[in-house]
Amino acid sequence: KTNLVWLRNDLRMADNPALRAAHLGGASVIALYVHETTKGVRSPGAAARWWLHHSLRLLGKDLAERGIELMVRSDDAERVVSAVATELDADEVFWNRRYAPAERAADTAIKEDLRSHGFAAHSCPGNVLVEPWDITTKQGKPYSVFTPFWKTLRDMPIAQPQQRPDAGDPIVGSNADDDYREPKWADKLGQHWKVGEAAAAREVADFLDRRLDDYAEGRDFPREDVTSRLSPHLRFGEISPRQVWHAAQAVAHADHTRQAAVDKFLSELAWRDFNYHQLYHRDDIATVPMQSKYAGVEWRQSEGDLTAWQQGRTGLPIVDAGMRELWETGYMQNRVRMLTASLLAKNLLVDWRKGEQWFWDCLVDADVASNPGNWQWVAGSGLDASPYFRIFNPVVQGDRFDSGGDYVRRWVPELAKVPDKWIHEPSAAPKDVLEQAGVQIGETYPAPIVDLKESRVRALEAAGRL
Ligand code: FAD
Repeated sequence: KTNLVWLRNDLRMADNPALRAAHLGGASVIALYVHETTKGVRSPGAAARWWLHHSLRLLGKDLAERGIELMVRSDDAERVVSAVATELDADEVFWNRRYAPAERAADTAIKEDLRSHGFAAHSCPGNVLVEPWDITTKQGKPYSVFTPFWKTLRDMPIAQPQQRPDAGDPIVGSNADDDYREPKWADKLGQHWKVGEAAAAREVADFLDRRLDDYAEGRDFPREDVTSRLSPHLRFGEISPRQVWHAAQAVAHADHTRQAAVDKFLSELAWRDFNYHQLYHRDDIATVPMQSKYAGVEWRQSEGDLTAWQQGRTGLPIVDAGMRELWETGYMQNRVRMLTASLLAKNLLVDWRKGEQWFWDCLVDADVASNPGNWQWVAGSGLDASPYFRIFNPVVQGDRFDSGGDYVRRWVPELAKVPDKWIHEPSAAPKDVLEQAGVQIGETYPAPIVDLKESRVRALEAAGRL
């Protein structure tokens, strides 16, 4: 008996329900990954493609060691999945569920097609803590606010992770077709990340061991390496959220004094599920504002401002630092993501979808639920959005969360010699201070592209007109 597993956002051996189910009863298993051209299914951006390329290579080796071949195809999944099942004369086809509207539509069509050709097709849960339809308000409705969602989730039984499938006969060398080359510019990402299931397991262990206790306090500060950095691993399913959940709970069981730290961390992890909950229950959240009145925002058309923002040349140091970090590393710390997004969608009044798309292309963790979900939160159009009057001031935020300016100095080296007092607003520094620091505003570093006070009023007025 031969079963086919179609891998998507679940590039792991352990706690992979589809892989395990396919293997039950000793069936031989073939794995398939499809670089999809399926209608409506979002293709990964450039940084994510780099990650995917490496992750698939590593997984291909792991699978091969267990006697499982990984086939890689580039095609419309609606065509290729049943074609491969036919070619292999497979008995059953398995996959772990995904939740975006177009993905679900494709999966339903594929399931029907497979069944009409006589294959049994099964979808399994594995990529979120709780399936989006299994968590509802007391009235049986989807949640639109995070805190009650979290309070319910926290008390639900989260399924235990499953073991990896048993070893089978080794196959020497997989014939995985990995012609889906990484983009060249993304090569540098390798200096910042270790890809793959083994690296994800090491990261979670190291985080729980060394960083967890500083997490609640430190997670807001971009200079501190205190967060888990699990986001790209979770994005590609190199580790499952329930593995992370149970590993963290085990820490709290072993030492009760760490329960509060664990809860804080897991409440952040739950935002991922919350975004998937929204993605499942709403329209396409990457393009459609969750609050419909936000469809009426009159966005400014300014390619110049968008480009300055993308390139980290806004003249607002912490924003520029974040955008340059993103370009170099494929990552940005959460608070800096909020600040940079707020500057674009509020002060610059540029359509948040353009920023979302840029993040989609540059983030190694770019995620169909969390990227648009967070952008809508910042832009104010999300159901559980930050209130429309919350417009982050990057100078004030910089002074608070990067008070010594280390983060700015690291990513905006032309400001390295500016004293702490002016590091977040060099354009306001006295001439002699700038001279001594070797900075010429408008020459070596841009003047702010937007007046923060005036643009704040403009953003409030735009929201007030809705
Ligand atoms: P930790 O703080 O260690 O959190 C652990 C895990 O919890 C994360 O890996 C992530 O899976 C989850 N998590 C934490 N915060 C959030 C959140 N606000 N929303 C959803 N999940 C969360 N996260 C993504 O994974 N992919 C994205 O595409 C993405 N885009 C974002 C865009 C904007 C504008 C903003 C403001 C935030 C975005 N985030 C996104 C959320 C958050 O910034 C990252 O998850 C976090 O910075 C990743 O670092 P970490 O793994 O060290 O996080």
